[in-house]
Amino acid sequence: MGTFKAIRIDKAEKGTTVALTQFDEAELMDGDVTVRVEWSTLNYKDGLAVTGKAPVVRRFPMIAGIDLAGTVEQSSHPQWKAGDKVVCNGWGMGETHLGAYAEKARVKGDWLVRLPEGMSAREAMAIGTAGYTAMLAVLALEKHGLAPDQGPIVVTGAAGGVGSVATAVLSKLGYHVIASTGRMAEAGYLKDLGAAEVIDRNELSGPAKPLARERWAGGIDSVGSTTLANLLSMTKYGGAVAACGLAAGMDLPSSVAPFILRGVCLLGIDSVMCPIELRKTAWNRLARDLDRRKLTEITHEIGLDEVIGAGSKILAGQVRGRIVVKIL
Ligand code: NDP
Repeated sequence: MGTFKAIRIDKAEKGTTVALTQFDEAELMDGDVTVRVEWSTLNYKDGLAVTGKAPVVRRFPMIAGIDLAGTVEQSSHPQWKAGDKVVCNGWGMGETHLGAYAEKARVKGDWLVRLPEGMSAREAMAIGTAGYTAMLAVLALEKHGLAPDQGPIVVTGAAGGVGSVATAVLSKLGYHVIASTGRMAEAGYLKDLGAAEVIDRNELSGPAKPLARERWAGGIDSVGSTTLANLLSMTKYGGAVAACGLAAGMDLPSSVAPFILRGVCLLGIDSVMCPIELRKTAWNRLARDLDRRKLTEITHEIGLDEVIGAGSKILAGQVRGRIVVKIL
C-alpha cells in the first residue's frame, strides 16, 4: 500500500488544521469501490470545511471535498467494475467519510452514479453538488406542477454556483428568469446565462411583509433568512419556492400567510442524502437541459494546491459561477 496526495483536515487544540499532504492508503475507510479521482470541485460547504468556519467535518483525520468524478480502479460491488466512469456527490464525503480532494477515494458502490453519456468528468464537476442541487430544485418545482407559462421564476444568489446553474437550466427550459444578485456588475454575466431580468438582492433582503405584491410563480433560493421570507410573500397564488441554501442565514423570519392565504408551497431540497434514483434523474436531466457552452463560461479551473485559498473566497461571496479542481 502506498500514499496519495490529499487535502487533510486534523483536529487541533483550537479548531482544525488543513494541509495538502500525502495520505496513507491504509487509512482509507470501508467501501466496496475504489475510485481514481480525476476531478473535483469547490462548493460553499467545501469552503466551510477547509477554512474551519463551521463544524461540517465530524471525523478526523478527514479528507475534504464533497464531490468527485473519476474512474473505478477496484470494485467488489456487483454494479461496478474497473474502468467505469462515475460521479459521487455528498453522502457525507468530506464530513463523515473521507472525501474527494485526493487522488484516491474508497466509497460505497450504492452511492455512485454513472457519468452520463457524452458528459466528461470535468463537466460533471463543473456542475458538481451546486449544479446537481439546482437541478433537484428544478425537478421539485416541476413536480409541483410549475411550467414556463405560469409566470416568472426568481433565482437568488444568482451569480453563485447553485444560482448560475439554476439560471442557465431554467432559461433553457423556457422560463422567464428573474436573477437576484448582490453583484449588479455581474448583470451581463447573468443575462448571458439566460436571465430575462436582473434585480438587486437588496430588494429582497429587508424584513418581509406577510403578503406582498405577487411577482413570480416560483423560485429557487440559496440564500435563506429574510430573502426566502420575501420570496414566499411575493409568490403568486398556488406557486412554490424550492429552498436549498443559507448563504445569508439559517433563520426564516416568515409567517404562515403565503401558505394559508395563497396556497404557496415551500419545497425543501437536500442533495446529501437524496435517494439514488432521484440523483440519476437529476444527472440525466443535467446532461440534457444544461447548455454546455454556458457551463464552460461559468467554470474556472484550479489545482489541488489552490483549494484552501479558494475556500475563503467562496465564503466571502467572491466566487462567480463554478470552480473545478483538477486532481490528476
Ligand atoms: P456560492 O457561494 O457559489 O453562492 C452563494 C451566493 O449567495 C453568492 O454567490 C451570492 O450571490 C449569494 N450570497 C452570499 N452571501 C450572501 C448574503 N449574505 N446575502 C445574500 N446573498 C448572499 O455557493 P453555492 O452556490 O455552492 O451554495 C449556495 C447555498 O446553497 C449555500 O448556502 C450552500 O450551503 C447551499 N447548498 C445546499 C445544498 C443542499 O443540499 N441543500 C447543496 C449545495 C449548496 P450573489 O453574489 O449573486 O448575490
